[in-house]
Amino acid sequence: MDDPRLMEELERLRNEVAALRLANAALEQQMGLGAAQTDEILRAMEAQAEALREAHQRQISQTDFTQRVMDTSSALMIVLRPDGRIRQVNRRFAIEFGVADAEIEGQALDDWLHPDERQALVASLPKAPWRVYSPLYEHLRRVGLYAGEHRLATRDSEYRFYWLEASLQHDPKGKEEGAVVCASDITRLKQQQERLLQSERLLKDAQRIAQLGHWELDLTTDRLGWSEEVLRIVEMDAASAPQGWADFLALVHPDDLALVNEAFTSSVRDRRLFDMDYRILFSDGRSKWVHGRCVTQYDADERPLRAIGTVQDVTAQRSAEEQLSLAASVFENSLNGVVITDAEARIVKTNEAFSRILGYSCEEILGKKTSLFSSKRHSKSFYRQLWTTLEREGQWQGEIWDRRKDGQIVPLWQNISAVHDRKGRIKHFIGVCYDLSEQKRSAEHIRHLAYHDALTDLPNRESFSDCCKQALEHARGGGKPLFLLFLDLDRFKYVNDSLGHPIGDALLRAVAQRLKGSLRHTDIVARQGGDEFIVLLQGLKSRRDAELIARKLLAALTRPFHVQGYKLDVRSSIGVSCYPGDGEDAATLIKNADLAMYRAKEEGRGNFRFYEAHLTEQAKERLFLEGELREALKRDELSVYYQPQLDLSDGRLIGCEALLRWRHGTRGMIPPDKFIPIAEDTGLIVPIGEWVLYVACRQASAWLRSGRGAYRVAVNLSGVQIERCNIVATVDRVLAETGLPPQYLELEVTETYVMRHAQQSIRILEGLRALGVTLAIDDFGTGQSSLAYLKRLPLDKLKIDRSFITDIPHGENEAAITRAIVALGHSLRLKVLAEGIETQEQAAFLKELQCEEGQGYYYGRPMDADSLEKLLQPEARARSERYSPDEQALEVSPAS
Ligand code: C2E
Ligand code: CA
Ligand code: CA
Repeated sequence: MDDPRLMEELERLRNEVAALRLANAALEQQMGLGAAQTDEILRAMEAQAEALREAHQRQISQTDFTQRVMDTSSALMIVLRPDGRIRQVNRRFAIEFGVADAEIEGQALDDWLHPDERQALVASLPKAPWRVYSPLYEHLRRVGLYAGEHRLATRDSEYRFYWLEASLQHDPKGKEEGAVVCASDITRLKQQQERLLQSERLLKDAQRIAQLGHWELDLTTDRLGWSEEVLRIVEMDAASAPQGWADFLALVHPDDLALVNEAFTSSVRDRRLFDMDYRILFSDGRSKWVHGRCVTQYDADERPLRAIGTVQDVTAQRSAEEQLSLAASVFENSLNGVVITDAEARIVKTNEAFSRILGYSCEEILGKKTSLFSSKRHSKSFYRQLWTTLEREGQWQGEIWDRRKDGQIVPLWQNISAVHDRKGRIKHFIGVCYDLSEQKRSAEHIRHLAYHDALTDLPNRESFSDCCKQALEHARGGGKPLFLLFLDLDRFKYVNDSLGHPIGDALLRAVAQRLKGSLRHTDIVARQGGDEFIVLLQGLKSRRDAELIARKLLAALTRPFHVQGYKLDVRSSIGVSCYPGDGEDAATLIKNADLAMYRAKEEGRGNFRFYEAHLTEQAKERLFLEGELREALKRDELSVYYQPQLDLSDGRLIGCEALLRWRHGTRGMIPPDKFIPIAEDTGLIVPIGEWVLYVACRQASAWLRSGRGAYRVAVNLSGVQIERCNIVATVDRVLAETGLPPQYLELEVTETYVMRHAQQSIRILEGLRALGVTLAIDDFGTGQSSLAYLKRLPLDKLKIDRSFITDIPHGENEAAITRAIVALGHSLRLKVLAEGIETQEQAAFLKELQCEEGQGYYYGRPMDADSLEKLLQPEARARSERYSPDEQALEVSPAS
């Protein structure tokens, strides 16, 4: 209908009809003018009517033509009347909407519109003063030309999309004539577009979900295009996105830059896939791991055209992987055993440590129940409680004893947790355990150490006191006596000092074993310290029983010990205390048994002794003496006595031994055996000893100067003196101060001291000898002399101990020993002096042995200086005259 020619033609026809009407009217006027003209007019009218018919015919064929033209269109064509109703539609419309030509006239196109759109159109229109049949047409009238997308209901009342184009029509005078609407079905297009949009959306979503974006690089222009997701990954917006390859590289972590560049270049060059993980570095220092892939497309001449690639954010995977591998390595390398089971406690996985602890490999126990490890050490209710706790609290921990594959039972510290699924059902159990055996062993060991003596493994003092306490409580209730034995090894120190500590230690261990072996299981033997042992005897009936046991122990220790090739003879002394009677608590009982032991020792070694109350008195006495001795020097209660020493070959007086005396203000004479040990223990021996040395030297010097002859004075040195003061310097000074020539001073050192400190004494003794004094070894035969040391000592004289001489001549043993000592002395080129000669027989015996010197009551008791001086005079008067013991004996003052 929009054919302008057709329109023109229509217009022309209308004009023609109008012209004809005018002509007709003119004719009617003329008819009145003359009939003559009537024929002519009729003819003219005929001709005109003919022309009119032809024009009408022409018009009909023209309309038909228009309809046909419209029908050829595959689009819908609708001609609207000026009121908006449909005038004419094409065939396509009739088919599509299932309407016949007849019924179309007068309907509005809006009737087919989707209600929503119709509604929208109505809403967009202002109120019109005339009746509106078609809002669509009304809209068109306002804009003149209209194009838009609309849904129209088709024959099957299914809406399809149409592209509507409409134009308003005016006649040449400008009057509104209606409109022509053309609508093309764009449903398929629309669906395609929708599908495209949908897939684009899907792609975007997929990229977002996969955190994977794509990009394209035009290698000829270096233009880079990024998908939205890439921008999101690199946290940029489209405006600031990199434009070219170099811009992109600027985002890569410097550490990965060279690798990325190289990988990309070589992938383009070698037509390989670029595929690697690298990091993007952000300005705030954060970085992201991405997985990049790309391929390159080439033109026919093999020139690279463009690269198409993807970038995927793998930071989360990476850290998850790291976490996983960390977790796996923790699982595998954990020192704790880990076992994972399903909800039915069937083993799913175990680690290395678990295998080590329980002895099963992971494969071996896969699928088995954990009850496999049950040691039967725990009751059913234990396990029941465990499972209830696990179900209720999701966790249980505690000690479980399990059975290893080899049958051994292991104590484990177990921590079991339940793992739940989303619905809260138990999915797994994880058991973490560690082996408590070692801990238990070391705890046991520590406990043992705390209560046992490390050397002998006997209970120590602490555990002994605990046992004692319990036994005392028991005894209090039961009325049975308790006995406590205090045992001390005699001369142990000498073994230790001369043979060395390892031998001493071994001996103590052997003694401990022997003691244990000699006692019942119920008796407790402990090491008190050093060479002292304590024994607690329970359940004995009487003292007699305790005595028997003490004797038994003494006897057991009499048998020699064989230690590392040495045969050692050890004696011991035992003191016994008893509950009730000798103390109410362990400490007192031990102290009193100790006192009794000292007493036993005093009475001769290898003895035992029951505690008696007076022993405590002795201890008190000792304390008293200690206090008094401190004052003795100041109070001038000390004095030096001298005991004559003779040449046995001719009975000549050759010197004397200086012996200390203490005359206490109220107690009278106190023997040296009583106070010298106290002086040694307290260190008082140092000033006292120095005083004795001074007095004796001064005396000897005076005698020498008095012209009565040359006599040597022998002074006893205590080991403490040698140890605690510079004895060499002291002696040197005293000699100088008293003016005594050194050859007139003899120093006596006991055998036990010398042997105990052999190594050290050699040096000091050599120092003393260097002063020019002579050295004698005192009490020889009582200590355990090592011949090897004896040989190296710078000695001049051996003094045979009094105990050997006393039994001469009846004691065969003693005579033999004396003989041997004299021979030994001579073989070492030492002079020998015999102490304690009390009889003529003894003197004769010794003379026969060619013992050089002698000393003893037979010749003279220790006496004060004046008394001795009298002995010197006859010597001065008649030097060659023989000394008469009898004569002297009368003059001797009873000093000891
Ligand atoms: P010792 O060095 O072995 O002295 C000899 C002891 O034997 C003296 O006892 C003496 O009186 C005694 N004695 C001498 N001849 C006989 C005898 O024929 N028969 C008997 N039964 N005994 C005899 P004393 O004076 O009681 O001294 C005892 C010990 O005291 C001495 O033994 C000595 O080890 C120590 N001592 C005495 N004075 C001193 C001193 O000034 N310094 C040091 N460090 N110790 C001294
Ligand atoms: Ca002596
Ligand atoms: Ca002696």
